[in-house]
Amino acid sequence: MRKILLTLVGLLALSPLASATAAADEPVDLLKTLYQKRFTLDHTGAPLVLIGVASGLDAVEISSPEGVDLLPNGTSGVRISGPKTVKITRTSGTPGRVQYYLALEAVPLSDPDLVAKTRVRLAPRGVTAREQGYVISMGPRMLDTRRVLFSLGPYTAPQASEAMARERAAFPHAFVHAEFATLPSGTFVAASGDNAFRVTQTGAMAFEPTAKSPLAYHLDGKAHRVDGRLIIIFGMDGRLILVNELSIEKYLEGILPSEMFPSAPAEALKAQAVAARGQVLAKMGQRHNTDPFHLCSKVHCQAYDGLEKGDPRTDLAVRQTAGQVLFDAAGFPADTVYSSSCGGHGEHNENVWGGKPNPLLRGRPDGPPLDKDLSRFFRQPSRSFCARLPGGAGASRWKVVRTATELQQSLATVGFSGKVTDLVPRRRGVSGRILELEIRGGAKPLVLSGELVIRRALGGLRSSLFVHKKLKDGAFEFTGAGFGHGVGLCQWGAMGRASGGQKAPEILRHYYPGSLLQKLY
Ligand SMILES: [Zn+2]
Ligand SMILES: [Zn+2]
Repeated sequence: MRKILLTLVGLLALSPLASATAAADEPVDLLKTLYQKRFTLDHTGAPLVLIGVASGLDAVEISSPEGVDLLPNGTSGVRISGPKTVKITRTSGTPGRVQYYLALEAVPLSDPDLVAKTRVRLAPRGVTAREQGYVISMGPRMLDTRRVLFSLGPYTAPQASEAMARERAAFPHAFVHAEFATLPSGTFVAASGDNAFRVTQTGAMAFEPTAKSPLAYHLDGKAHRVDGRLIIIFGMDGRLILVNELSIEKYLEGILPSEMFPSAPAEALKAQAVAARGQVLAKMGQRHNTDPFHLCSKVHCQAYDGLEKGDPRTDLAVRQTAGQVLFDAAGFPADTVYSSSCGGHGEHNENVWGGKPNPLLRGRPDGPPLDKDLSRFFRQPSRSFCARLPGGAGASRWKVVRTATELQQSLATVGFSGKVTDLVPRRRGVSGRILELEIRGGAKPLVLSGELVIRRALGGLRSSLFVHKKLKDGAFEFTGAGFGHGVGLCQWGAMGRASGGQKAPEILRHYYPGSLLQKLY
């Protein structure tokens, strides 16, 4: 029998809360459990994810056609059968306290040599090693997202920004991360509309449907139906947060239609489902450190609206790939990043985000080899997989004009003042994406680094794979290819390949070379 063992390590392992393990017969402190973000599995062995669907609330309504069950201590405690609609109202609340750290460098725990070397190298800086992430092991397979953050602090929020400004030149990938010092607390009432049913609760409470019909929460005059259970819990601001706890598979069904059109070829949707599953598993435990959930329902993590967004074709793609995760040759999960269109050639991960080259994220031609002469490349029609379908051609090739005023305005955001006289690409990646661009014409020349920085500074270009032409009156014309960073799976390319008869495993093997597709649960 397959046995799945789950362990959560992380910031918690170093926080005072980790020692507070409740004995088996003690009631579970639901609030504390959620802030610790322990990983649990559903009856199929699929991880449960906690999604923060709304925060800063004073009141919210939860309903189900056959009634709502209240679980004051989570699934392990008592169950109170409530009315069809329960109105939750906050009566008091005390905020928690957060402290901030500046992570100078983040190193995967799976690379002990690098962890040891970094520790020695950064010791003179007075850093502390703070672990983040989780590990799920299943026999010889291990899903390990743990990383060591070599950090300065603790700081207040402004101190952390100051430290960031001070260290940025020496540590270009430094970032601020938050941890909680004390948890929030408070009291709310869960009651029926006529107040005949009324329960007062501190901290948090879980809700499940009494029968088959799903739960819905009511906000802004709209009902949002969700899979799984809902949890009301105090946020760090002392107000209420609504969390949806559900199987990662059901969550994927909810987000897949926002990742790829449900009308896309079935095998492309399956490849997309595997890549999205990998990204959800990678993001869980790496963000929202001081929130009682893994991911939010906003664009920051992935726009999610429960059962309101489902589609039979994307649902099927998730079900047909249930539990399938890509691993590298060493048995670690692949970082399955993706973007809309590579434009004809994928990009190396280190060229976009820095860090070590990832053998699974090598930029390769998405069809015929890239013409090194870019002006000739742009004169010829695209023959790449991402340009095969009618919709993909537009994402694969584009042309845009920026007037002198538009350029002046957008370049002001990166500290450039003056009139742009010329743009000089200093360095291009393997896909042709510009990684360093010199802007001439200001008081002194400005060099922009990073494909996203360059795209934004030029008023939001689809990609940094472009050539330009100076027009009259200081305007510039950009002729480009691709949409997004181009690392990992090319979504339009996957659709082009699937329309040509390729199956999902073959598509995944192309975009993540050397990866292995495995069923994790
Ligand atoms: Zn988020
Ligand atoms: Zn492509």
